[in-house]
Amino acid sequence: MSNYMALVMARDAKDPICRLEGMSKPLVVYTSKESHYSNSKNVSFTGIGRNNIRYIKADYKGRMIPELLEEQIIKDLNEGFIPTYVNATAGTTVLGAFDPIDKIADITEKYKIWLHVDGAYCGSVIFSEKYKHLLKGVERSNSFSYNAHKMLGTPLTCSIILVNNKKQLYDSFSNDADYLYQTDGDDFNLGKTSFQCGRRNDALKFWTLWKSIGANGLRKIVDKQFDLANFALDYIRNNSDYTLYSFDDSISICFNYKNVDPTDLCTALYEYQITVVGFGSFEDNTFIRLVTINANNNKEDILNFFELLEDFVERTPSLKKIKAISI
Ligand SMILES: *Cc1c(COP(=O)(O)O)cnc(C)c1O
Repeated sequence: MSNYMALVMARDAKDPICRLEGMSKPLVVYTSKESHYSNSKNVSFTGIGRNNIRYIKADYKGRMIPELLEEQIIKDLNEGFIPTYVNATAGTTVLGAFDPIDKIADITEKYKIWLHVDGAYCGSVIFSEKYKHLLKGVERSNSFSYNAHKMLGTPLTCSIILVNNKKQLYDSFSNDADYLYQTDGDDFNLGKTSFQCGRRNDALKFWTLWKSIGANGLRKIVDKQFDLANFALDYIRNNSDYTLYSFDDSISICFNYKNVDPTDLCTALYEYQITVVGFGSFEDNTFIRLVTINANNNKEDILNFFELLEDFVERTPSLKKIKAISI
């Protein structure tokens, strides 16, 4: 929803008249191949259209390649399109990769394009002294979103959007329905700055958490998740029965065990009520994807997960195998 708000503001900034007359200009939008599927939904909702989203290739670590972004923008300009919005991801869905925001901002500033940072998954690293460097350049974006209901563990939903020019919220979301708004000041009137009048209640979940544990408490939550991730990474790197597919500075740990088919294994672990873990794909590989997002877990829980999995594979010779792949 926050990403959708950002795209609506970007559209209205490039083509203000479209609020009254509907879309008339050939707007185009950019995001990486590894970004969240809400991007393609949102381009269709905003009337920009799914054919007008350009998927930029990611590098071997799943990060958008800025040079390819600029190439595509130049191509579109030459063909008469209007580059409108670039979505950078802070924590891609599968690998948990961070797009290089600073380098992308150099391009969006040069071509005057709205830059949004989708930090739904991992934007909360902003609360960590140790990991906020992963968001370097985010202050140059026009909008930034993160979900407190992901890394920070509030109840669903608690999706936050920050903008660097509040006027753009009013420009896109105020309908001037004066009869509804009877207070003098507008500062806390979310009906004029968001899709939903009821969105203000979502802030309470984050506000109460912050009040109760402080900024230091938020930092500890984030750091703990990376500690658990690093513990899992070490475990995998020190055990040759595992193949690792993910990278440092991510709370998504992607791996296979003894070349067992990951889809088959995850399904069986679930059906036999051993544990619930998901799988994902990047390029040609499919793998198990362990996400250390629960800061209430401890290293013993991570160890226990691996032991359960290994023990289950030992006891279940019928599991399918994949071809061994070296990376
Ligand atoms: C989860 C996620 C979303 C969607 O957020 P919801 O609030 O759950 O709809 C968008 N982008 C990314 C990168 C995500 O991880």
